[in-house]
Amino acid sequence: MKTVIEINESERDERIGRIMAECEAEEEQVYQDHISNPIYGNPAKQLTEYAKLTFKRYALKGWKLGFLKYEGTRNGNCNVQTKRITIDIDVLPKFTKDRLSGLFLHELAHALCAKEDVNNTGKGYDREKHGKDFRKMCRRINVPKEFWTATIVMDL
Ligand SMILES: [Zn+2]
Repeated sequence: MKTVIEINESERDERIGRIMAECEAEEEQVYQDHISNPIYGNPAKQLTEYAKLTFKRYALKGWKLGFLKYEGTRNGNCNVQTKRITIDIDVLPKFTKDRLSGLFLHELAHALCAKEDVNNTGKGYDREKHGKDFRKMCRRINVPKEFWTATIVMDL
């Protein structure tokens, strides 16, 4: 059974704001917990620097990179509403530098699809997910081919 709860727009915005703040606090905590550990800290710092430059290069204002523990459910995520790209902290010590940037660029392609509204939603949503417009974007920004499809969880 599905329960649909009707809420008005201001209530919805408030909820989104609350969820965003919670996510940010959680990411910050995970990041702080691991940043002193060289296994996570070094690749996290490098990827954060790379992300900053890349957001700037593609004029993605207000975007940030975060780290979360996805417990093997996914490697990364792009949230257009909160302007957040999040990488699973556990892939940091497992992935090579090239793979980490590839994973990040996959998520970045979602952000750019939304920014340029390639699916013509009129609202800048990233609706098509991993369809032909997404692949076109991947080619444009040089996402390695292994990252053109849905992010897969790899056991390494
Ligand atoms: Zn994706």
